Amino acid sequence: MDFARLIREVPDFPKPGIRFKDFSPLLADGEAFAGAVAAMAAPWHGSGLRVVVGIEARGFILGAAVARELGVGFVPVRKPGKLPGAVHEVSYALEYGQDRLQVQADAVPAGASVLLVDDVLATGGTLAAAASLVDGIGARLAGAAVLVELAALGGRGRWRRSEPLLATLSY
Ligand code: AMP
Repeated sequence: MDFARLIREVPDFPKPGIRFKDFSPLLADGEAFAGAVAAMAAPWHGSGLRVVVGIEARGFILGAAVARELGVGFVPVRKPGKLPGAVHEVSYALEYGQDRLQVQADAVPAGASVLLVDDVLATGGTLAAAASLVDGIGARLAGAAVLVELAALGGRGRWRRSEPLLATLSY
């Protein structure tokens, strides 16, 4: 299944200079969606994962589907103010300014094995921040999976960890 052809590039969205990878057409095609999710999940079958942790917002769509494919649970990492109860938080640098991500403190049992999922690896700041959030709640990071890596942006270089970072498609 050639699902890559259903990811379109939108120039200057949401800001000038950004070449946005829009995978809405892929999601809307049942066969392509299933193929992409199966490809993301394939390396992780039988790896002892307890949950997939997906990053807001498009990481929820892919992460929840990958979790179902693997038969494990799903935990959301969200922007501040969305999750009730005790949360762990991490701040990270954006191109201009800072952003924060949160996860519920009791979302994952201590030591449980976790796979991080997001849609796109760009500069890598988001995924690296989410990885430190997983560390912060005492879970064990098994690795990370993204659908698309924008290799020219050097995000892999910010993944200064021994756990694998796997990209299904690289541009
Ligand atoms: P970064 O922290 O720079 O790796 O950015 C990753 C996050 O921003 C991901 O959650 C993506 O959803 C989003 N993102 C960044 N650049 C793009 C792009 N060119 N196309 C689509 N999404 C992007």
